[in-house]
Amino acid sequence: MAYEEPVTDYDKIVENCTCAFCGSNCDDLDYLVKDNHVVGVRHACRLGASKIMEDEDQRLLVPMVRDENGELVEVDWDTALDKAAELIANSVRPLFYGWSETSIECMKRGLELTEYVGAVIDNQATICHGPTVQAVQNVGYPLMTLGEVKNRADMVVYTGSNPMNAHPRHLSRYTTFPRGWFRQRGRFDRTLVTWDPKFSDTAKMSDIWVPFEENGDYEFVDAIRAVLKGKELKKDVIAGIPKEDIVELTEAMTKVEFGALFFGLGLTHTLSKQRNIDIAIQLVQDLNAYTKWVLLPMRGHYNVNGFNIFLSYEMGFPYGVDFCRGYPRYMIGETTTIDLLNRKEPDVFMVIAADPGAHFPGGALKHLTEIPVIQIDIHWGPSTEIADIVLPGTFIGVETAGTSYRMDSVPIHMKKAIDPPETCREDEWIVNELFQRVKKIKEASK
Ligand code: SF4
Repeated sequence: MAYEEPVTDYDKIVENCTCAFCGSNCDDLDYLVKDNHVVGVRHACRLGASKIMEDEDQRLLVPMVRDENGELVEVDWDTALDKAAELIANSVRPLFYGWSETSIECMKRGLELTEYVGAVIDNQATICHGPTVQAVQNVGYPLMTLGEVKNRADMVVYTGSNPMNAHPRHLSRYTTFPRGWFRQRGRFDRTLVTWDPKFSDTAKMSDIWVPFEENGDYEFVDAIRAVLKGKELKKDVIAGIPKEDIVELTEAMTKVEFGALFFGLGLTHTLSKQRNIDIAIQLVQDLNAYTKWVLLPMRGHYNVNGFNIFLSYEMGFPYGVDFCRGYPRYMIGETTTIDLLNRKEPDVFMVIAADPGAHFPGGALKHLTEIPVIQIDIHWGPSTEIADIVLPGTFIGVETAGTSYRMDSVPIHMKKAIDPPETCREDEWIVNELFQRVKKIKEASK
C-alpha cells in the first residue's frame, strides 16, 4: 500500500464525528474540512474514510425523472415530488424498502407515510440478519454493550464474520486491543478465537482458529453444548474438528471471566439459517451456568439495527411490516420484500438509502424493472438504473445530523460537519414532503 501524505491544508477540524459506514458506528472521528468539503478524516479505518471523503463523481445532485425515451432527465423538486406522490397515492400495494443508511428521524416520517397509505415497510435485515432477529424472538438474547466487552472480556470469539475486513476497528476500538478497566494489558489479557472454515484475516491474528467444515456450524456448536452438559462425544471427528479439540476449547471457554461471542452473516446464511443463531444463543445461555458469556450480531450498515429497534418499539415487529389491512402485520415469507417481489405484488417500490439493484435476486429484480421505482439516495448505483424518479438526499453524519443505533443498540447522535449541496434535500424532509403531498391527493379524491 502506497504511503499517503497526511492532509495539512484544511480550514477547520470538526471533532467527535460518527462514521456512517459499518455497525461499529465509531464516534471518535475528526473531519478535516476545507471549502465545505471533508478533505481528511482522522481515526477512521480506510472503509469509513473512503465513504466520508466521498467520490463526488458518483453523487446524485439533482432530482430526475425518466422520460419517454428511457433517459433520466433533470427536473425541479416540485415536479419530481408531485410525480412520486402521485405514484404512491394511486398505488394498491406500495413497498418502501431500505432505511438502514438514514436517520431514525427519517424512519419516523417513513412510518407515518407507510401507515397512511397502507404500505409495507422493510429494511435490509430481510436479506441479511433476518434469521438473527427471528432467533432472538425464538429464544431471547444475552446482550451487552461494546463498552462492557472492552472493560471486561478476556475471551473474544468471532464466527461467520471477518471484522478485519468488514468492521476494521472492531478489534482495535472495542474488543481485543484496547486496555479496559479489568484488562489493563489490552491484547495480552485476552484470548482471540475465530471459528470459521476460512483462514480469514481475523483468523490469521487469532490465538485459536477452529476451521470447522462449511455448513458445519450447527453440528460444531451442538457438540460444545453436549460437552458442557457432561455428555460424551460419540464421533471422533465432528464437523471436521477432532473431539479432543472440542473438549479442550469447551473447557477453555468455561474458565474465562467474561466471554463475548460475535457472529456475522456467515452464521445466518449457512444451511441451518436461524437455527444456527438459536443454538449459538443457547450455547451462551449454557455457558452462563459456568461463567459470564454474552453474544452480539455483527450488524453491517450503521443504522440497520436502528431500523429494527425503531420499528419494534413503534409497531412490535422488527422488519417486513405490512399495513394493507389498516393494522401492522408481520409474517416472514408473506410480508417480506423478496417474497412480495417474487409474487409480483408491489405496484410501486420506493427505495431509500439501499441498493437493491446490486443485491436482490434475479426474480425480485425483474419485477422491479416492471413497476415504478422511486429512489432516495446520495449515490448513483445499480438501483438508479432501474429508478423512474430519483430524489437526491443528504449524507447523514456529514451533511445532516441524525440518530443511529450501534450494533449493541446504543443510540448515537451523528453530527453535521458541512453543508449539503444546495440542490439536495434532507432525507427526512423528502419523505415528509411525499407524505404531505400524498395526503393532499388522497383528500382531494374523497
Ligand atoms: S470500523 Fe466501521 S464505523 Fe469504524 S471507522 Fe471503520 S467503517 Fe467506520
